[in-house]
Amino acid sequence: MSSEDVAGVHDVVVVGAGFAGMFMLHRLRELGFDAVVVERAGGVGGTWYWNRYPGARCDVESMQYSYSFDPQLEQEWEWSERYSGQPEILRYANHVADRYDLRRDIRFDTTVEQADWDDEARQWLLLTDRGVYRARFVVMATGCLSTTNEPVFEGAQTFAGATYHTGSWPHEGVDFGGQSVAVIGTGSSAIQAIPVIAEECAALTVFQRTPNYSVPARNQPLDPAEQADWKASYRERRAEMLDQRAAMLQRLPDSEDLAKEATEDEFARRMEERWAVGGFTFYRGYGDIVFDAESNERIAAFVRGKIADIVDDPEVAALLTPHNTIACKRPCLDTRYYETFNQPHVRLVDVSQTPIERICAAGVVVDGQEYPADAIVYATGFDAMTGTLLRMNITGRSGRRLADHWDAGPRTYLGLGIAGFPNLFTVSGPGSPSVLTNMIPSIEQHVEWIGRCLVELRERGAATIEAEPDAEASWVDHVNAVADLTLYPTCNSWYLGANIPGKTRVFMPLPGFPPYVEVCEDVAADNYRGFAVA
Ligand code: NAP
Repeated sequence: MSSEDVAGVHDVVVVGAGFAGMFMLHRLRELGFDAVVVERAGGVGGTWYWNRYPGARCDVESMQYSYSFDPQLEQEWEWSERYSGQPEILRYANHVADRYDLRRDIRFDTTVEQADWDDEARQWLLLTDRGVYRARFVVMATGCLSTTNEPVFEGAQTFAGATYHTGSWPHEGVDFGGQSVAVIGTGSSAIQAIPVIAEECAALTVFQRTPNYSVPARNQPLDPAEQADWKASYRERRAEMLDQRAAMLQRLPDSEDLAKEATEDEFARRMEERWAVGGFTFYRGYGDIVFDAESNERIAAFVRGKIADIVDDPEVAALLTPHNTIACKRPCLDTRYYETFNQPHVRLVDVSQTPIERICAAGVVVDGQEYPADAIVYATGFDAMTGTLLRMNITGRSGRRLADHWDAGPRTYLGLGIAGFPNLFTVSGPGSPSVLTNMIPSIEQHVEWIGRCLVELRERGAATIEAEPDAEASWVDHVNAVADLTLYPTCNSWYLGANIPGKTRVFMPLPGFPPYVEVCEDVAADNYRGFAVA
């Protein structure tokens, strides 16, 4: 704790030094603001700092999962694979921190324990485990998936072996050589980790509550010619990305055709082609996958057919086969996930009907049967989008708690501001496209909007900006109405908070990046319509 932090008043405190917080700091400095970042981790990188589990890799292709704000940076940095692995992305984050000399204004190992709006001083007061910060503005750059979900299993503390969570993996790595490993969960993290852990360990038992659809990523070394090609037209391609509903380009063009109307031949040809190309392009072969149940079922059945082809044992294949709506939960990409279950030392345990009963010293118990393990990997996900914000005990005007304001689900205006919480911005907050997009362009759009807004306030001599309750209420209605046009609200996904017992069921992200950006631009141009500026 340095003395200036204790008594210091900054223009802006940014919480989080992931991709959002780093760029926010850089932009604030450029705009002449005095800003400091507080970060609970010991380094930069956010999600890529914590998620170091074996096989951790970005599902968005490297040429697109990168900053665009500095053309020199994007020209100079060389990516090595089609999809970057966690170590490479973390190296990139560290390179960015060094290149723009960000670390001098980042306070690492600093956790925000409380954040209170002081109406008299018109400042935020942030209580951290390393001192108090005061600032006119706070930017919550805390990430959408940054508080782990750790289900409580009876007897968990009696387990004699080591336990790990994919979302807070040890930095020194884990050697599973010769061990019996239990993995709980089959979401994106598990689907990436399972094939790699299976290669290392002596025996692997996977506890699956809900099977997931997964499509091959088809990762490979990045062709230098392809990288050069991207760099030769980066400006145009970045602009094109922003015109896409998920702010990313696919290897094959998105199609607006309706799956249910395709002939058998045409459907099979198109789906096979996209399965072979791999990645999210698979989900863009038809325009109605998340809009029409019949079309969705047709695409889901195609993937079920693939699982049956890949998995040798029909009983295991049946257990691995999902019957819910495809792409309703966050789609998964894999490298030899289903194939892994053909290996003799890999076992799948269905816990959909009979949940995990308890954990004992020797392993995991289901339906009275003990599955021995030397190590347990919890791949059980996150309290997404709201967990980290609520954990910070934020209180706004008149001491109103964010937890109370969000009692019936998160309420924001544009996913950027919250009524009753002046001068508090959220980057990729609930109510913005965030997790339904390529996160880095989404982050850049928010950071740039916030930066311009702060300049505007400074020029006007205004001290506060705050979402108006009516604007917030209509925005919440708008997000719900857009989500209701899709199949998203029909399944138990973390997008809805359905993975956390007791969490209010509300669809949190807003589908569709380009129309969202248009609204943000329009609001700013229209004198920050829906915000009270004073
Ligand atoms: P997740 O998708 O929420 O998966 C958690 C898994 O744990 C699910 O299979 C869930 O089963 C299971 N689970 C939770 N509680 C359980 C319990 N009490 N008993 C048994 N099983 C339980 O979490 P995740 O895999 O960490 O992924 C979260 C998100 O992070 C992804 O959707 C994605 O957005 C992001 N991510 C991205 C990448 C990437 O870009 N490469 C990689 C990893 C993660 P149910 O389905 O039945 O709830």
